Amino acid sequence: MINSGKLLALSSLPLSTRLALGDQHWDLIVVGAGTAGLPTALFASQRGARVLLIEKAGTIGGTLFLSTGQIAGAGTVFQEKKGIQDSPEAHYEDIMRINHHTSDPELARLLVNNAGETINWLAANGYRIKDDHPVTGIGHDHFATARYMEGIQGGISILMVFKPLVEAAIRRGSISLLLNSGVVDLVQARDGSVRGVIVEDEDGRRTQYEGHNTVLASGGCASNPHLFEELHNVPLYVRAAYPYSQGAGLLLGQSAGGYLRGGEKYASLPGAILVDDNYPSPLYGHAPLYPPNRQPWEILVNSQGERFVQEDHLSIDHIEHRILKQPGHRHWAIFDQRMLDESPPLIPGWSAAPGWSAKRIMSESNQHAMFKSDNDLEILAVKSGLNPRKLKVTVEQYNADLINEREDLFQRIHRPLPIAKPPFYSIRMQGWTLCSFAGIAVNAELEVIKPSGERIKNLYAVGEVIGAGTTSGNAYVNGMLVTPAMTFGRLLGEKILPLS
Ligand SMILES: Cc1cc2nc3c(=O)[nH]c(=O)nc-3n(C[C@H](O)[C@H](O)[C@H](O)COP(=O)(O)OP(=O)(O)OC[C@H]3O[C@@H](n4cnc5c(N)ncnc54)[C@H](O)[C@@H]3O)c2cc1C
Repeated sequence: MINSGKLLALSSLPLSTRLALGDQHWDLIVVGAGTAGLPTALFASQRGARVLLIEKAGTIGGTLFLSTGQIAGAGTVFQEKKGIQDSPEAHYEDIMRINHHTSDPELARLLVNNAGETINWLAANGYRIKDDHPVTGIGHDHFATARYMEGIQGGISILMVFKPLVEAAIRRGSISLLLNSGVVDLVQARDGSVRGVIVEDEDGRRTQYEGHNTVLASGGCASNPHLFEELHNVPLYVRAAYPYSQGAGLLLGQSAGGYLRGGEKYASLPGAILVDDNYPSPLYGHAPLYPPNRQPWEILVNSQGERFVQEDHLSIDHIEHRILKQPGHRHWAIFDQRMLDESPPLIPGWSAAPGWSAKRIMSESNQHAMFKSDNDLEILAVKSGLNPRKLKVTVEQYNADLINEREDLFQRIHRPLPIAKPPFYSIRMQGWTLCSFAGIAVNAELEVIKPSGERIKNLYAVGEVIGAGTTSGNAYVNGMLVTPAMTFGRLLGEKILPLS
């Protein structure tokens, strides 16, 4: 964790000082000091703006504390070092191919034309990436060109660049930071233009701050189960987002006359193993079901006990969209003892933890709600909540096609073993996400807009508050959240925001 003790947080100053700040007129008020808010504030301050940066948490950084921080851009110094040729156009085509042209095209263009410069700026300020990066992809569908990278410490590597620069700007007095302070309302003039914000501190005291422009950079709503479900029509199954991602900016933007869009672009990651059915549940385990890293040995079935996808399809986006069509987005991995003994771990480890061994899966079976086993396939189905007759037919057909060297029902190629040696196992998995696809509508200048398309004067939005669907579309495109959050924040601060 980064030590926040040195931050010159104004919330620790006496109330009278804070009220004095309320008497001042700021060039820019930034709501949220995370992935998007930090570059917005920093670059605007470097242009001479007097910035008030308001953060609800006790420290700056937001989702960068949790994020893998994988980013992508064309024309980076990291590509140059490895002799990789790339262009914004190729980046754009890759994004649109992967998400079936569901990103906002104008904002996707803005991103590809500027992402490389953002990454080069990070590099010039000490950002270092993993040795074998850039790569074409990790965990999601791959780009055609290697432009995807992860910092040595994930999202923290990005925060380590911004934090000292923002602290220096605070010391110079060009940024003033309020911590433990949540924006709860916007101040609007009669003509609808936004003139400032109302902030509530941890003791519930409210102060008004006036500014020439206000930027909503308060993140998404993937820690607010009610709002999330209302906007996406899907429960928030897993608790994985930053706790302050409560959707404040979505509601603030809406209250000023803006509107929310993009919930229908909800996309589901595969393979979450929940603790229980009390949503949102922490992750108990995770099977990425990502064929480029691990070819499947198991079959996947839905609650009917029927297969629904080519498990070794090379596009994880294809598998994710098939999962999205299954009841409750649930999917069960079905396998036998031989598969368990001989296959690489279905639930992989990471640097700090080994993958789940056969012994671990066996010990979880019939102990944990999501893990079942039995010598009889139909009894396994009953224990797992599946249709027993159909599961039996599904397994028989899978085995028969394999043994008789017939084409698989779903054209699956990787079929190392039949499901034949008891005991049989099931693991119940859940489609899930860690970000919100719905967000406040903005135009190509990142101004918050009304349903008529008219802008709300002096109000901008950047980061996940504009909706993951706006940038990443209805898919998980490599880096299409952190990169636009940082890049649009930089562009707002550096160029787009009028400062007088
Ligand atoms: C585990 C995980 C891994 C991820 N990995 C990747 C990845 O590898 N690549 C990728 O592209 N995306 C990834 N994402 C998504 C990406 O990290 C986020 O979409 C992005 O960081 C959000 O940036 P933001 O600035 O919009 O929000 P944040 O970084 O969360 O910043 C918002 C800030 O606003 C503050 N705030 C909230 N409400 C208020 C209020 N009312 N007043 C004042 N402040 C407020 C919050 O406390 C927070 O500090 C990941 C997400 C998670 C959870």
